Amino acid sequence: LLSPAPLADLDTAALREAHAAFAQAYDELKAAGLALDITRGKPSADQLDLSNDLLHLPDGAYRDAAGTDLRNYGGPNGLPELRAIFADALRVPVAQLLALGNSSLTIMHDTIAQALIHGVPGGELPWGRQSISFLAPVPGYDRHFTILERFGIRMIPVPMNEDGPDVEAVASLLAADDSIKGMWCVPVYSNPTGAVYSEEVVRALVSMPAAPDFRLFWDNAYAVHHLSDDRPAPIDVLALAAEAGNPDRPLIFASTSKVTFPGAGVAFFGASEANVAWFQHNAAAQSIGPDKLNQLRHVQLLKDADGLSAHMEKHRTILEPKFAAVDTAFRERLAPWGAGTWNAPKGGYFVSLDVLDGSAKRAVQLAKEAGIAVTPAGATFPYGDDPRDANIRIAPTFPPVEELRTALDGLCTAILLAEAETLLA
Ligand code: PLP
Repeated sequence: LLSPAPLADLDTAALREAHAAFAQAYDELKAAGLALDITRGKPSADQLDLSNDLLHLPDGAYRDAAGTDLRNYGGPNGLPELRAIFADALRVPVAQLLALGNSSLTIMHDTIAQALIHGVPGGELPWGRQSISFLAPVPGYDRHFTILERFGIRMIPVPMNEDGPDVEAVASLLAADDSIKGMWCVPVYSNPTGAVYSEEVVRALVSMPAAPDFRLFWDNAYAVHHLSDDRPAPIDVLALAAEAGNPDRPLIFASTSKVTFPGAGVAFFGASEANVAWFQHNAAAQSIGPDKLNQLRHVQLLKDADGLSAHMEKHRTILEPKFAAVDTAFRERLAPWGAGTWNAPKGGYFVSLDVLDGSAKRAVQLAKEAGIAVTPAGATFPYGDDPRDANIRIAPTFPPVEELRTALDGLCTAILLAEAETLLA
């Protein structure tokens, strides 16, 4: 039997032998006729079950705490009770936190559209009348990149570290180029690397010199999505930005998509008073108010900040074994061959795996041909272009754990074969 050693250290004969063994394992995998999917970060059915009370709430009730009839138009800022539940976790004062529609991605998209058409506070011209660009920490969230591609906004990749984006790279880019108007930030359990921005990084981002209409798109999608007891203290980016003399720099986004029901949840927007006023002015032309009955349902389900924490603990109980399964599979199958490096995130929805340079696309293709759908390689980079062709995003939340194990094992088989091919080429 072949004994594992780092593939990169093998001589050609040993590599050929390994390749033959991997090819045989791959043929067996293909013959198994699997049909598995680990592409997107969706909650599993048993996670969705945690919020099933939403299906019968608000149970005849239709007034908020102030007695307002929520069945009617109005209340553009959203239910104060719901905003209060999330204010602490997001570190945004209730008065500056709006509860809106069902998707934070929609708010991000529309905020950029409004900035393109009208400009933002502090800016001289609408973004759309300038040739503008955004900084995109990589690997990052593909749908962020898609918004910018759709609007024709140039993206400049910047490297991610374990404590957030490389602030020196960010600072030197911003200093050299005032066409940079925005930057994507997923400050807590970043998609896909799980990185948590340190306070030092956040202070640097809010204080470094930049164009007056430069904005941090602070997508705090995973603020309460912990997978361990080792939790980052929430960072008050608005206060730090104000302290640094740039109160209008952060625009905060979040949602209950992975708290309750994706697509039937509630999204939030938070910012400085000036930005909130700008946002409200734009939003007033778009809508006569959000779905406040859905917000009421959410208040009844979650009750308060403690209720939110307790609810997220139930998610954690379901998710922990799945993230452990990823770590175990890679440890057992990839590590002995030196075939990958990955993170063990303390929260969020993803694991980021780096395979041998030049092997990610091939590995994902081989997995697909064996009936295992994985997020396309390159998706975590602007324009789908991973210059090293090394990064693969693993989304372990959706499948039942047994299916996940089978999919991961098959993916490892595909990765080993792809790497042996790369090294023999
Ligand atoms: N932001 C990040 C970082 C995400 O990973 C996701 C979903 O995967 C979203 C936003 C989508 O949010 P929403 O469902 O609120 O549109």
